[in-house]
Amino acid sequence: MANSRFRKAIQSIAGYQPGLQLNLEEIVKINTNESPYPPSPNVNKVLNDLSSFHLNRYPDPLSNRVRDAASALYGKDRNWILAGNGSDDILTIAVRSFVDQGGTIASLYPSYSLYEVLAGIQGAQMRYIELDNEFDLPTDIIQQAKGADLLFIVRPNSPTGKAYDIDTIRSLCEAHQGMILIDEAYADFADDNCSHLVDEFENVIVSKTLSKSYGLAAIRLGYALAQPQVIEGMMKVRDSYNVNLLTQLVGEAALQDQEHLVQTTNKIKETRKWLSSALIERGFELIESSSNFLFAKPPCDPQSYYQMLFDRKILIRYFSSPRCKDYVRISVGSKEEMQTFINVSDQIFTKK
Ligand SMILES: *Cc1c(COP(=O)(O)O)cnc(C)c1O
Repeated sequence: MANSRFRKAIQSIAGYQPGLQLNLEEIVKINTNESPYPPSPNVNKVLNDLSSFHLNRYPDPLSNRVRDAASALYGKDRNWILAGNGSDDILTIAVRSFVDQGGTIASLYPSYSLYEVLAGIQGAQMRYIELDNEFDLPTDIIQQAKGADLLFIVRPNSPTGKAYDIDTIRSLCEAHQGMILIDEAYADFADDNCSHLVDEFENVIVSKTLSKSYGLAAIRLGYALAQPQVIEGMMKVRDSYNVNLLTQLVGEAALQDQEHLVQTTNKIKETRKWLSSALIERGFELIESSSNFLFAKPPCDPQSYYQMLFDRKILIRYFSSPRCKDYVRISVGSKEEMQTFINVSDQIFTKK
C-alpha cells in the first residue's frame, strides 16, 4: 500500500472481494445469490409515497418499525432485534462488540470470506475450522472452537448450501464459552432454522438479511435476533443512524408480507429441484442444497467451464481455493434463466 500511515492491520489485508456486478440487461446473473424476483408489491406502495417522506430529517436511530416487523415474526418484542445496513453491518457490529484486538474469531472453512476481512480490520486472529470431506461439521468442533471470542456458523452454508444438524449446533452453543453468530442469510430456503436457539442461549446471535429471499439486495437491510441484553450492548456499537429512512420503510413493508416471501421462496425451491435433476443428468456431482444456489462439480474443468459461460454472458461463481476448486456455485434464478443456463451448458459440452 502506497501510504504507510495506514495501520499495519489494514496494510496487510486485501479487503473483501465481492462477486462481479455487471450490466444486468445483457447477462444471466447467477453469481451472487440474489432473488430473480421483485420484492413484495407493498414495497412499491411505499416508494410511490416518496414525496411524503421528510428527507430533511434524520431517520429513527433505532429503526423501531423494522424491529417491530421483524420481532413479530418470532412472537417477540423489538428488544430482541437489532437492525443493520445489510447483515454485513450486523457482522461488523458483532466483531466490534465481542472481539478485542488480538482476540480470536473462528469460522468454519470453506464458508463466507468476509469474516477473515473483519478479523483483519479488527486486528484479531482468524481461526479456521475445516469442514469434513462431506463439507459437514467436524466431530471435534467443540474442541476446535474452544477459546474463540466469536464463532461464525453459516447455516445453510455458502458456498456449499449445506444445513448442518441443529442438535450438533445446540450442543456447541451449550459448550462454547464465547459468542456464536449463526448467519442465516439463506435460512428462508431451508426446511428449518436456528432462531429458537436464542431463547435457550444468551451467547447466540442469529443474523438474517433481506438481500436474498426478500429480493431486496439493493436496499441493504439485515437484522440480528438475540436476547435483549445482547441487543442492548450491540446497540452501543453501531453507527447512530445505521439504517436509512427509505430502507426502514421498505424493509418494514417487505417483512409484513410473509405471503410474498413464501411464494417466491417456494418457486425458487421448485426451480432448485428442477435444476438439480438437469445437472445430475449431465454428469454433475451435487452437494444437496438447502439454499438458493447449488455447489456442483461439473463433468469438465470447472474454471474453463466458468470462463466459457462468461464468454456467453452467463455469470456463475468460481472459487479457486483448494477446497472449492473442483466446484462451481450456481445461484438459482428464474426457470427461464436456468433453462438458458442449461442450453448454453449443453452447447459447451457438445462443442468439446
Ligand atoms: C449475502 C450474505 C450476507 C450478506 O448479506 P447483506 O445483508 O446483503 O449484507 C451475509 N452472510 C452470508 C453468508 C451471505 O451469503
